[in-house]
Amino acid sequence: MDSLPRIGLGIDVHRLATGRPCVLGGVPFPEAKAGPVGHSDGDALLHAACDAVLGAAGLDDLGTLFSDRDPAHQGRASAEFCSEVMARVRAAGWRVVSLDAVLETEQPKLAPVRGAMRARLAELFELPVTRVNVKGKTGEKVDAIGRGEALRATVVALLLPL
Ligand code: MG
Repeated sequence: MDSLPRIGLGIDVHRLATGRPCVLGGVPFPEAKAGPVGHSDGDALLHAACDAVLGAAGLDDLGTLFSDRDPAHQGRASAEFCSEVMARVRAAGWRVVSLDAVLETEQPKLAPVRGAMRARLAELFELPVTRVNVKGKTGEKVDAIGRGEALRATVVALLLPL
């Protein structure tokens, strides 16, 4: 294996539904009016981060590793996917050195918990919090995100050999 860095991109969209629990970036939002619909807990930010890391390591994608048709993953906390993804990434000889994320949603408001999301991502992907960033955006009332019907997470990951 060469020693060059690898970059990966992950994008994930989930519908939002009233009454669904809301966990984003591994951080619960107990006051949220709606939460992401999904076979697991629907944490789009963690799903996009996993896909970015898997992509950089050349290890397929989250949907292939954890099928949404497998009842074993029903309602599962996405933080558990991150642990399994990191085990595979390590086994393939890589470590995550940087993550940058954008989460587009009308609600919940992300500003009060961005620090907590950064800390949780740093913990899950085993890197210092100073190398993780999370940016919140609204949908500016445009398209499904702007109407509050869905949210979208986009994550870029940089990996180096162990
Ligand atoms: Mg997803």
